[in-house]
Formats: sequence, C-alpha cells, structure tokens
Amino acid sequence: MSAKTYQVRTYGCQMNVHDSERLAGLLEDAGYVRAPQDAEVADVVVFNTCAVRENADNRLYGNLGRLAPKKADRPGMQIAVGGCLAQKDRDTIVRRAPWVDVVFGTHNIGSLPVLLERARVRQEAQVEIAESLETFPSTLPTRRESAYAAWVSISVGCNNTCTFCIVPALRGKEKDRRPGDILAEIEALVAEGVTEVTLLGQNVNAYGSDIGDREAFSKLLRACGKVEGLERVRFTSPHPRDFTDDVIAAMAETENVMPQLHMPLQSGSDRVLKAMRRSYRQERYLGIIEKVRAAIPDAAISTDIIVGFPGETEEDFEQTLHVVREARFAQAFTFQYSKRPGTPAAEMDGQVPKEVVQERYERLVALQEEISWEENKKQVGRTLEVMVAEGEGRKDGATRRLSGRAPDNRLVHFTRPEEPVRPGDMATVEVSYAAPHHLLAEGPVLGVRRTRAGDAWERRTAAPEPKGVMLGLPTVGVPEPLPAAPDGCRTC
Ligand code: SF4
Repeated sequence: MSAKTYQVRTYGCQMNVHDSERLAGLLEDAGYVRAPQDAEVADVVVFNTCAVRENADNRLYGNLGRLAPKKADRPGMQIAVGGCLAQKDRDTIVRRAPWVDVVFGTHNIGSLPVLLERARVRQEAQVEIAESLETFPSTLPTRRESAYAAWVSISVGCNNTCTFCIVPALRGKEKDRRPGDILAEIEALVAEGVTEVTLLGQNVNAYGSDIGDREAFSKLLRACGKVEGLERVRFTSPHPRDFTDDVIAAMAETENVMPQLHMPLQSGSDRVLKAMRRSYRQERYLGIIEKVRAAIPDAAISTDIIVGFPGETEEDFEQTLHVVREARFAQAFTFQYSKRPGTPAAEMDGQVPKEVVQERYERLVALQEEISWEENKKQVGRTLEVMVAEGEGRKDGATRRLSGRAPDNRLVHFTRPEEPVRPGDMATVEVSYAAPHHLLAEGPVLGVRRTRAGDAWERRTAAPEPKGVMLGLPTVGVPEPLPAAPDGCRTC
C-alpha cells in the first residue's frame, strides 16, 4: 500500500513558515510523504493559518469550502487546521466547516499526527487547543525547505501589547530557548551543510528576558560567530525598545552576522506610537539607526510601517514621511491599517476613512520607492559575494540570469558563469545596474566558491529526501524573506 500524502498550506509570518516545516517533519515521521507541489489535494491537507487581518477568516473558510466536494470524492482524506486562527476560533471552525477533522493550536503543533489518527479511528472531529506552550517547536522533527539555509527559533510568544496586534493573545507570553539548545541546533544544521541561519522570534532582541540575562541576544550573536562553517547569520524581528548598544556592537564585531537589520517603525509620529503602545518614540528610533550606521556603515536597514492607524492625522503622517526621509531605508514593508477583531485598536475612535488611508499609502510607497532606488544606485560598482539562490533566476530578454542574496540581503541577478554553480555556492560579482528592488551584475562572474551548502543542495536534489535526524535537534528549511504579513506582523 503506497504511503499517504500530505500538503501543508502556510499563511502569514516567518514563525508560521518555521512551524510548517515542523508539521511536515512530524507527518513524514509518521510515514506520510509530501504530495507533489502542483497537487490540488492530498490525503492530509493542513492549513497553518494567520489571524492578522480581517479577511483572514474569510480566506480560510473560503478555502475549506472549496475542499469540501474534493474530500467527499476522496474517502479517507483528512483536513486539519492549525496556527493563529485555529488558536483564536477553536471549535467554531468545525461548527462552520464540519468536514474539518482536526483543529490544533499554536502551542501544541506536536499533537497533529495523534489527533489525525484519533479522528480517523473515532470518525469524529478532534479539537485540541493548549493554553500554553507544550513543546518548543524546535525540538520537533522537521522537513526543511532548503538544503543550505534555515530558520532557528530562539523564542516564541511576545511580552509586548501593541494595540493593533493579536499575536500575544494567540502565541502567549515570551518563552526563551536555552542558549545551549539553540547553539546545538545550529551546529547540527551546519554539520548537515547549512551555511546561513536566521534567528527567529516575535521580538528577538528581548531574548533573555525569560532566562534573566538582558545581554543574552548579543552573547548569542557572538557565539554564532564561533560556529565553524556558519557563513551567514541573520535575525528577525527586533523591537526598537529593546535594541541596545551591546547588540549593535555584537553585530559590528561578529564577522558572520550580516550587515542587515529589519526594524519595524510602524509610525513616525510620537502621538501614534503612544496609541500603538510601541513604547519608543521617533527620537529613539532615529538614534538607533544612527548608531547602527556608525558601527556598520554598509548596513541595509528595512522596516514595517502601518498607514492609517486610528486617529492618525495629516501631521502624524508627515512625521512618518519625515522618519522615512531621515532613515533612508533600503526597503519598507508598508501596510494600510485594518481592524483586527480582538485588538484594542479595533475599538478605538477616529478610524481613518479608506480613501484617506489609500491616498497616504500611495504617497508613502512613492517616497520609499525613490529612496530604495537611490540607495541601490550606491551599490553600482561594488563587488559582492552573492549566495546563489534556488530556482530559475530571472529572464532578461534572451538572457536567463541566476539570482542570489548579497550579505545585506539585497537581491542580485547575475550572469550565469561558464563553470557550474549550485544553489548555496557563492558567486563574486560586480554590480553594474540598480533597480528599485534588485541589483544587476551584467558582466562576467569574477569567481565561484563551491561551498558545503552547494554540496548539501546537490545531495538533496540527487537523492530522495531523507527524514530529519531524530536527535531532538531538527534539520530545517529555507528562509527566503517573505512578503510581510498584513499589518506589520512579520512576527513583529
Ligand atoms: S507587533 Fe510585535 S512586538 Fe507588538 S505585540 Fe505584536 S508581536 Fe509583539
């Protein structure tokens, strides 16, 4: 009898992508195999949901509605719903979609295989939501998306209470992993060929508050610097309130910590930041940017901005534009505010009319586009070592270029070299042209460095996918920078 197939559909932030790799690992450990990418359905379809935006619900129930007839035609097929919307809606999901077999939450993703089995045996839906974290997801088996880059979760949950955000209600208070566990996972990953890790948390630089060490995050960055074979370290997302000088020093003094920082601003207006309960103000934010640039002159800084937060006036918005002009972000993920039921902001007076939000949003995007392009133009003539990305690259007329990420995470399209180059290998190129959202290196590649990451990618594509090594220390997947989830929930 052939193995049952599975499909995990992921919505929302990097934390969900990380969790989906665990869900895939759990299912493969239970004997399921991944359904082909283009398969419409599978024997088990898992929705790993996001709850950040108003229509997140509509989207889920719409998808579940479309699956109902397919399930009716496929005896034994099971549907499971997990993630933030499941944590919020619980048994409402099986009431609204009684063809769903399993509902599990953000704190008990490890229960999925057992719940699927129980639903099958008992022929009834299983709804199991834990109020607090049962097992640190990082200890669960995993099925990585990439052979050479990985997410490493350092904490879950958040102690902040931003008034537009539902995350603390659905992912709970911050829980930190022990530094030793994190470093052991990183060393196991590097042993498997991973050369880039992204440290992940709702609020990474608050790391340590749960284990009583305020400098734990900068110490962790420095410790990553000592991991032999680890070429690139990134992290997402920090919070400006907790962004301290020891972190800036660790970034500047640790060679494999990349010159890239994503730091959500959300608004440039002190009055709006107060209403958002973001506990920092414009001056502090710009002060951090200044310190980072002084310590790491070629750092690429990106951000998240919400336009149209309740009560935002034209003067407030002008303050946001002012910070954008001052900060000169390489990139900004910009969002139009939308109510999130269950958040304090949803009940606030002064909800800004849609057309006003739209008009401001367009002004902000236009300004940032200009700045991104000007900042990219400064890269022309620079020689960069680019980590070659998976995938087809980009077609420029008749030329198909390869793509990759520079140390500062800028996207670079470059000419395919004569010699073979694999995803995960490093290519040295000279930037010849800048566009608003990518760089081009049209000249010949100046050098190719074959890496263990490239070897790992070759091993993976050559052989059938091995399962995660069950050391309690997973092997993991692919951090491509995701388009931010709406309303700034890029896990922060
Ligand atoms: S926006 Fe980020 S920092 Fe604020 S509550 Fe949500 S997850 Fe926490």
